[in-house]
Amino acid sequence: MSSTNWNLEPSLESTAVVQIKAQYELFINGQWQAPLSKTYFDSVNPADESHLAKIAWAQAQDIDLAVQAARSAYENVWSKLSGAERGKYLFRIARLMQEKSRELAVLETLDGGKPIKESRDVDVPLACNHFFYYAGWADKLQEAFAGREVAALGLAAQITPWNFPLLMLAWKIAPALACGNTVVLKPAETTSLTALKFAEICQEAGLPAGVVNIVTGYGDSGAALVAHPDVNKIAFTGSTAVGKQIQKACIGTDKKLTLELGGKSANIILEDAPIDQAVEGVINAIFFNQGHVCCAGSRLYVQESIATRVIEKLKFRLQSIYVGNPLDKNTDIGAINSKKQLETIERYISLGVEEGAEMYQPSCHLPAKGYYCPPTLFTDVAQSARIAQEEIFGPVLTIQTFRTIDEVLQKANNSPYGLAAGVWTDKGARIFGLSSQLQAGVVWANTYNKFDPASPFGGYKESGFGREGGLHGLSAYLKFIN
Ligand code: NAP
Ligand code: MG
Repeated sequence: MSSTNWNLEPSLESTAVVQIKAQYELFINGQWQAPLSKTYFDSVNPADESHLAKIAWAQAQDIDLAVQAARSAYENVWSKLSGAERGKYLFRIARLMQEKSRELAVLETLDGGKPIKESRDVDVPLACNHFFYYAGWADKLQEAFAGREVAALGLAAQITPWNFPLLMLAWKIAPALACGNTVVLKPAETTSLTALKFAEICQEAGLPAGVVNIVTGYGDSGAALVAHPDVNKIAFTGSTAVGKQIQKACIGTDKKLTLELGGKSANIILEDAPIDQAVEGVINAIFFNQGHVCCAGSRLYVQESIATRVIEKLKFRLQSIYVGNPLDKNTDIGAINSKKQLETIERYISLGVEEGAEMYQPSCHLPAKGYYCPPTLFTDVAQSARIAQEEIFGPVLTIQTFRTIDEVLQKANNSPYGLAAGVWTDKGARIFGLSSQLQAGVVWANTYNKFDPASPFGGYKESGFGREGGLHGLSAYLKFIN
């Protein structure tokens, strides 16, 4: 635990609330089933590199069993229930998640490395709220799309990334079930534990067998699920590179596809902005969750007249950021999710220096074991620099200046991505002007990283297509018959 300005006593969240099994099997047809190959991989705590559990490796034959279970549950049980009955299950799951929220939060932090204050205050409550929200729609689909006749798609294959494991699961499973689909979900290799805990919650809620199946794995597991011929819908959240592969794999099939991909989001501070709030907002936009946020505000554009002040304030604020043990309630930046991701971030930091940008990191003492990266600022960054163009997915911010609104619009939109953006200004008219011209799925004004289940989320350009959340999120799991 470290920061240069403050020395707080450690305040560790207890792990006593969590029972991690030595070994986890696949959750297929309401039961725990060993993978046919009997092979397992390790789940590691990135905060100290300790071993957490052995996780079953699902391969094509196991995925086939899960798809068969989901198909049978769809045909024989789930499609026959009324929306009101489906809603009851979703409400029950939501309440059980709430009851177990402390356990889920600690588990998410142990497995993924994110600070406990985020898993406790952001990930888990939002995940519960997604279930409550979509539970409420389950019996109102006709009202949601008045005048249209809608029906479930059938079987949804869902693939999630490691940055928000439980929340991305909720974004996917809650609307799918509300609309009457059954699910096979594959979590990311490094963060399976909350998805497996969610499987236990499904059992406890009495969800009919096969409605939700969780197949853990790595390597080809996700591709095997995508390729399965009996899948009707694929919902993927992850990198743009893998999203492109999935899109190719779907060519010539009638699988419905939504892709939530990477980002390089612009955060823009105009000279009339309340500067201290904007600085705090920038810190939240990029350093929240170690920068492992698809919509992280990783490119900062500051109007030239205030740039020196903003940069000074950012550097000062970084000196009181706590980097360290994610279970410590004081921690702002926890562990990087994996060694591989830490190496990627470190490569980009070296590249930024080689590219001629000026780097700033506050001095902090990182724990000896585990994967940690100090918050990093780059100034004097060229628009064409790779650190300003490519997604780093870590606590690294590039800062550039601009003089006019036209200039910042041109710079902000000069990106292959278009997931989110932020605007900081005192003038409502400027907010409307900029937000209508920024090519981004979400534009936050005088705030950042705010989510709500009723509000759709998704990208432009290489950040993907389709929306999750809100009514848009429902329509992604329905076919419109007339
Ligand atoms: P990733 O490498 O693309 O992996 C995402 C998921 O896809 C994992 O479960 C992965 O399994 C699986 N997968 C890998 N190769 C596959 C294939 N060929 N076919 C099917 N599935 C495959 O992404 P990540 O590193 O976990 O996550 C970080 C990325 O997600 C970032 O780019 C971030 O911006 C993006 N993201 C986007 C959003 C959004 O809403 N737009 C939200 C969160 C994250 P394994 O783990 O087993 O490889
Ligand atoms: Mg892990």
